[in-house]
Amino acid sequence: MSGILAFGELDNDGLAGVTGELLTLARTLAAETGDEVSVSLQGASVGGAADEAVALGADKVYKVENALLEEPQIDAHLSALEQVARHSGASIVLVGRTPLGRDIGPRLGFRLGAPVAQDCVEVSVNDAGRVSALRPVYGGNAMAKVSFPGDSTQVVIMRPKTVEANEPDSSRSGSVEDFAAELDDSVIKARLTETVTQEAEGVRLEDAGIVVSGGRGLGGPEPFEQLQSLSQLLGGAMGASRAACDAGWIDHSYQVGLTGKTITPDLYITVGISGASQHMAGCSASKNIVAINRDEDANIFKSATYGVVGDWNKVLPAFIETVRELRDD
Ligand code: FAD
Repeated sequence: MSGILAFGELDNDGLAGVTGELLTLARTLAAETGDEVSVSLQGASVGGAADEAVALGADKVYKVENALLEEPQIDAHLSALEQVARHSGASIVLVGRTPLGRDIGPRLGFRLGAPVAQDCVEVSVNDAGRVSALRPVYGGNAMAKVSFPGDSTQVVIMRPKTVEANEPDSSRSGSVEDFAAELDDSVIKARLTETVTQEAEGVRLEDAGIVVSGGRGLGGPEPFEQLQSLSQLLGGAMGASRAACDAGWIDHSYQVGLTGKTITPDLYITVGISGASQHMAGCSASKNIVAINRDEDANIFKSATYGVVGDWNKVLPAFIETVRELRDD
């Protein structure tokens, strides 16, 4: 068994950003092991994404085209990826922790009889090709180092945005193999019946370099308008704690945390959020956290780079005003 296989995801523009991150990571690991880097690109039509994948680091592209892979039908993608993984004999399979990947990764591990590490933020490999990975635990309050004993395939599920994707290099060369996966309707146990696209103004929460989130401490839905204007001033996105979403002040699509979205912005500003472990699970990899909270003992201050102990009613308007002035300069 040898080789590093990445699960390649596509979006409307071709290769999804997370695939570039996985290929970059795969190249870093391959520099240690000397392994070949391959990628499984799965869809009804893969189009030009195969060339993109080569430019981003793939030595080999398995192009799996099948009408059943048109929508992100999990069972069909899982079956296709399992077939490619077995065929390639890869010793490491990299999957992004995306909505599709976080379902597929563990199930792939089960099918291959392989150990799985979820939500990894750092991965290295030893001379024997065995992976060691770091993953945040207890809401990011500690890091667990996991390793894979034995000699089975290793499935690593990477948190998006923890690796910066290399720039594409169009001079790279690689091979493309049309892979005829055996797929029929019987593999699909759960069917996707409807996709509802969320209308989002500006930058997506998961992609934003700056996120401003509000929590129960805001006391109601109206202050989210202030947070929205602050996030727009900063060219970022708005988020929320689950308590604020559960209260019906803001839609659950804004929720950051264990059961919400995972974000890794350069700057994360929290207003009236206590910093419960379930919230921190979704934001602990933020590069800088700035917290506004009137309780100096709030847990959020343990993770914050900068903290303001005070009532947001007083702090936030002055903060927004200052940002406006600085932007106007
Ligand atoms: P609180 O904990 O009530 O904190 C409000 C904060 O606002 C306090 O620290 C207070 O001091 C401060 N405050 C109040 N008034 C002001 C003021 N005027 N000015 C400044 N500060 C003020 N939570 C998530 O966020 N995301 C998740 O994905 C998530 N998943 C969960 C999954 C499970 C299985 C469970 C059990 C819980 C989950 N939770 C999640 C809930 C989590 O445990 C907390 O209840 C939640 O994060 C609390 O939200 P909060 O910080 O907004 O509210």
